[in-house]
Amino acid sequence: MIGNSSINENISDGLTIKELFQNNDGLTYNDFIILPGYIDFSSENVSLTSKLTKTITIKTPFVSSPMDTVSESTMAIAMALNGGIGIIHHNCSIDYQISEVRRVKRYEQGFITDPLVLSPTNTVADIYAIKNSHGFSGIPVTENGKINSKLLGLITFRDIDFLNKDQWSTIPVSQVMTSIDDLITAKNDLTLKDAYTILQRSKKGKLPIIDSDGNLVSLIARTDLEKNRDYPLASKDSRRQLLCGAAVGTRKEDEKRLESLVQAGVDVIVLDSSQGNSIYQIDMIKHIKTNYPNLQIIAGNVVTQAQAKSLIDAGADALRVGMGSGSICITQEVMAVGRAQATAVYKVAEYAHQYDIPVIADGGVTCVGHIVKALTLGADCVMMGSLLAGTQEAPGEYFYHDGVRLKKYRGMGSLDAMNACKELSAASRYYSEADHIKVAQGVSGSVVDKGSVHRFIGGYLYTGIQKSLQDIGCQSLVQLHQQTNQGVIKVEKRTASAQVEGGVHNLHSFEKRLF
Ligand code: GDP
Ligand code: GDP
Ligand code: 5GP
Repeated sequence: MIGNSSINENISDGLTIKELFQNNDGLTYNDFIILPGYIDFSSENVSLTSKLTKTITIKTPFVSSPMDTVSESTMAIAMALNGGIGIIHHNCSIDYQISEVRRVKRYEQGFITDPLVLSPTNTVADIYAIKNSHGFSGIPVTENGKINSKLLGLITFRDIDFLNKDQWSTIPVSQVMTSIDDLITAKNDLTLKDAYTILQRSKKGKLPIIDSDGNLVSLIARTDLEKNRDYPLASKDSRRQLLCGAAVGTRKEDEKRLESLVQAGVDVIVLDSSQGNSIYQIDMIKHIKTNYPNLQIIAGNVVTQAQAKSLIDAGADALRVGMGSGSICITQEVMAVGRAQATAVYKVAEYAHQYDIPVIADGGVTCVGHIVKALTLGADCVMMGSLLAGTQEAPGEYFYHDGVRLKKYRGMGSLDAMNACKELSAASRYYSEADHIKVAQGVSGSVVDKGSVHRFIGGYLYTGIQKSLQDIGCQSLVQLHQQTNQGVIKVEKRTASAQVEGGVHNLHSFEKRLF
């Protein structure tokens, strides 16, 4: 009743985050919902800048997981261009991993640093095959058919499109290519702007870049300069190269891998253990801090405050949080060890933030809402596997199953991954040579096509989180954390039926298109 003196204006509605966890329940992201706040700003102005480690700050809180079906150089480049970072997996030889890191560090927008190259003895049929499988046909020709070899010429579709099909397999590329004497090339010290001018003047479609000995080092395509996008959020180091992370294990022999990665210019190392609170990881942290004091270390994984304390005391610069919450993961089932992810993130962040150590919520993220919940509970960044695995930039080819376009995605502790590269591997996270039998902690499966990371991360996830923070009433991730700590952000537990109500229900059929 209006005017009633018994009206209580002290609104106390919902739970603070602290209250949500006070009963020590093991909660997942789906077990609670965030209550809306007050909006007095536009969502475009919401800043997602966040700390990745003690000294590295990035403009979007997205990290790609070091898994062999998620993060190689193409993913890491796309993640960094969009303001996040990729962590190159280590289920491969040292040489392979460092060449992937080098590709990220060397990346310059507009330069194709690993163009498809042919040798003079390849045939016209090979060009048609490339055109069919890759969609382009501007191919440099070098002495040995590889990059970093002497450039002999260039072949494009226009050199071959009037040839008869029955001639394709007999005519060598050398016979129809534009040879080096007639070719416009540029030296590898030119800028993208210079390249633009050259291509404009020459009216050509491709500009091969060579070193002082005439070896091919990269290629520029006119079409790329035309569609050249600006990436204002890109994560870069002080030399304006893209940031790149890499994972290593914690065995003695991993020290060699680490040294090579440092030489390749890696910015941050992820110590890849499913249970990070071990003497091995602590020794590795000490080894890194002694030998490479400027290298940032993401230690983990941890899910408890005691584990966090061990690694922070040893010198960790950030913590990766999660055990058994990943989509491909069977650790909790098989090992009976782990923790529900929302509780793990909250508990570890609560402890680590006292020491200014950022926390990366790793695993179990399947939608924008989960990312926002992780960040609200205290995560500074979010690491994703399955969400990124179906993108164009993830390693592997697409395939069709029941008419759906899919990509393979597998746990690093799956038998599949452990068998792929036994002696070297990231699988050592889950398996030691001393073991006679491998006990799988992950599965192998597939995920649906999500298009390009540029649209998915840079467009959908980024905008989605901005809009969600607007609903919560926070203009930045810094403000979100402050309001969580001050008890301003309110949440509520969700019963099983509340979760059903919160999803799509009571429809005969529907199509879930997200962006
Ligand atoms: P083309 O004239 O048939 O070679 O095709 P366009 O120049 O129109 O388009 C080629 C597109 O493919 C550009 O966006 C390139 O960046 C991209 N691309 C990626 N890898 C390669 C490669 O190895 N060689 C070439 N030629 N293009 C590549
Ligand atoms: P597009 O990518 O299909 O438009 O082809 P380009 O414009 O690159 O090449 C057209 C034709 O010019 C082809 O026959 C080339 O072999 C020939 N060509 C001659 N000199 C050059 C040169 O300096 N650069 C390039 N890219 N092509 C050349
Ligand atoms: P997702 O984003 O797919 O839910 O989870 C990815 C995370 O799962 C990875 O970053 C990693 O921490 C974890 N993970 C990757 N492979 C395995 C595995 O085989 N077993 C377990 N237990 N966890 C895995």
